[in-house]
Amino acid sequence: MNDSKEQVSFMIWTGDSPPHVPVKELSTKLVISIIGNLSSTIRNFFPDLQVFPALGNHDYWPQDQLPVTTSEVYNAVADFWKPWLSDEAINTFRKGGFYTQLFESSNSHQPLRIISLNTNLYYSPNKVTVNITDPANQFAWLEEILETSSQKKEKVYIIGHVPVGYLPYARNTTAIREYYNERLVKIFRKYSSVIAGQFFGHTHRDSIMVLLDEEEKPVNSLFVAPAVTPVKSVLQTESNNPGVRLYQYDLFDYSLLDLWQFYLDLRDANKKNESNWKLEYILTKTYGIEDLKPESLYEMAKQLAMPHSTLFEQYYSNYIVSYDKTILCEEGCKTCQICAIQYLDSSSYTDCINQETMWR
Ligand SMILES: [Zn+2]
Repeated sequence: MNDSKEQVSFMIWTGDSPPHVPVKELSTKLVISIIGNLSSTIRNFFPDLQVFPALGNHDYWPQDQLPVTTSEVYNAVADFWKPWLSDEAINTFRKGGFYTQLFESSNSHQPLRIISLNTNLYYSPNKVTVNITDPANQFAWLEEILETSSQKKEKVYIIGHVPVGYLPYARNTTAIREYYNERLVKIFRKYSSVIAGQFFGHTHRDSIMVLLDEEEKPVNSLFVAPAVTPVKSVLQTESNNPGVRLYQYDLFDYSLLDLWQFYLDLRDANKKNESNWKLEYILTKTYGIEDLKPESLYEMAKQLAMPHSTLFEQYYSNYIVSYDKTILCEEGCKTCQICAIQYLDSSSYTDCINQETMWR
């Protein structure tokens, strides 16, 4: 990251500290101590850096069952994150695992608002929230914050763990329940002029989404960053190398300009018994676009959708963080990837899937 010669202003940490092991191997006490360990590790390495964390579905016990009211985990985590967050943010967090905070920088003329969502409340395996229309009143809270931001002409970055939209590796599957997904997409469209970027994790893979409005105009840029840990399900041939990334943003309006993706070749690291993190790609250079604004990402998405696009092969290789260049994503696999990039709501996504023969 030093090679980029960029000055880092803050860190986004999208959660999931505990290992992904069976529920019986963990406990509330263990989960809390793991999150505590990682919080202090980050603080020891970056003592002066502002960190904006978000909770993941594994940051709870039993996993995925994040509650809609205050809990032992929310309270413990709030104490760990106190050095980074304001009293107001901490108070909100204790109640529902989400918060908002302004980031003030001496380099920018106006502050940036961070909204850290607890999208785990919407995650399909969360049984606590089944049949609740607005878990922890987070939708109402989000709309209120965005409305105020819009009036104050603020810019906002949304951060969260489980992403909105469709999973790029599965057909017709949203990560959060479809009803919640439709609701979030609606809110993000309404306030797209306020939201300058969205950042998620959870899938362990590297994927991009561009939110289109009802007239198919690109209005928001969304990024799912790959994880530091690899993951592989029994049904998958592919996994991911560990990754971290650096974003560059415009100091005037917080629009996203570029990203540097770094990775660790895990096989090589295991062979040599040393970790040698390298630059994997620079987004604008790799995809030949000007910046990371919605219009540019939409342009990129159209290129990727072209039949036999070599750029798409590159995108897929980046998606698995250069895990294996021989793994190809064709036909049905490509359909799911391409539709997930551009279509975040049920009706436009379904249209895309149904028209796959036209563009493949
Ligand atoms: Zn997760």
